[in-house]
Amino acid sequence: GRIGIAVVGLGRYALARMMPAFAESRLCRIAGLVSGNRQKAARVADAYGLKSDQIYSYDSFDRLAEDDRIDAVYIVLPSGLHAEWTEKAFAAGKHVLCEKPMALSPSECERMIAASKAADRKLMIAYRCHFEPYNLKLMELMREGAIGELRTIRTNHQYKAGMATPQTNWRLNRRLAGGGPLEDYGLYGLQASLYISGQMPERISASVMRPEGDARFQEIAAHTASQLTFPGGAAAQLSTSYDAAGLNRLDIFGSEGRIVMEPGTSYGGQTMTLSRGQGSETLTPGDPQVQFAGQLDHFAEAVREGTPIKTPGEIGLRDSRLIEAIYRAAATGRSVEI
Ligand code: NAD
Repeated sequence: GRIGIAVVGLGRYALARMMPAFAESRLCRIAGLVSGNRQKAARVADAYGLKSDQIYSYDSFDRLAEDDRIDAVYIVLPSGLHAEWTEKAFAAGKHVLCEKPMALSPSECERMIAASKAADRKLMIAYRCHFEPYNLKLMELMREGAIGELRTIRTNHQYKAGMATPQTNWRLNRRLAGGGPLEDYGLYGLQASLYISGQMPERISASVMRPEGDARFQEIAAHTASQLTFPGGAAAQLSTSYDAAGLNRLDIFGSEGRIVMEPGTSYGGQTMTLSRGQGSETLTPGDPQVQFAGQLDHFAEAVREGTPIKTPGEIGLRDSRLIEAIYRAAATGRSVEI
């Protein structure tokens, strides 16, 4: 049978993107809902054909342990709550698919990995780009040396946040979101620079900007710009903002050519141009829409067959350590050796 998954947190991404994707999944089914809002949960349960005894609240979460219909939970809560609810899920004996960012500090990530090992249950971070045809093609092109030797990478992940405060939008709240757009949107650029280069950076410099007197940025930064230097000399410039005109773009420059993706890491609509010498071609490796169900099925396969996870907790921990290094570099004004 399919792997039964309880969705923890019925917010925008869960409702609009991931829950509809279960229809295209071969190996997963929605087997439970965890929500603080009983009415909303009842409506969603109705839409997905779930019974009322499949609805849990955060207070009744521990009873998941006795529900054999539920093999795993999908944590899609504000990022500052990922660690706590992942640990509770492992305590209930469930496998965990956790949204990105894994958590807000390396020590939280370490606790989550330890809990997974202690419970002997799988932990996967929902890095959907690893299941998206354009980004998979990008990884393949880089492995093949399609643009020669890698020289520079530039990533932009930015949009303008509407008027809100840390009290009304969790993404502006330090306890729930961390230091700013880097953990949330900028993470796509950080991730991409690692799977493009196939390397860990050896040095990081960065700056973080927080405008004065803007109600949105009382607790978090508005922009982060960082530079990663890789062994062999390639460099990545990562730019992310919650207060700039929208852009989701990857530019990769090699000794023999370049690749431009815009958008690069979105839910859909990806474009990809590969240029070499005088020539330039538009690539269309597949439908980005498959990334959502693809990630679910990869998780389910790991739970069922014990196959390795492409995006395990260790990769979330690695990224959390790099984010910490970026903030350290910005705070000290000095580059940080990795
Ligand atoms: P959202 O605000 O739409 O949803 C969050 C949900 O958590 C809401 O239903 C809210 O009621 C609930 N919640 C429970 N406890 C809460 C608390 N103490 N404070 C605030 N809300 C609480 O957010 P979202 O955009 O759906 O993001 C949820 C998670 O999914 C985040 O970790 C985010 O990084 C991740 N996400 C991933 C992607 C992706 O492409 N992989 C896209 C969007 C969001």
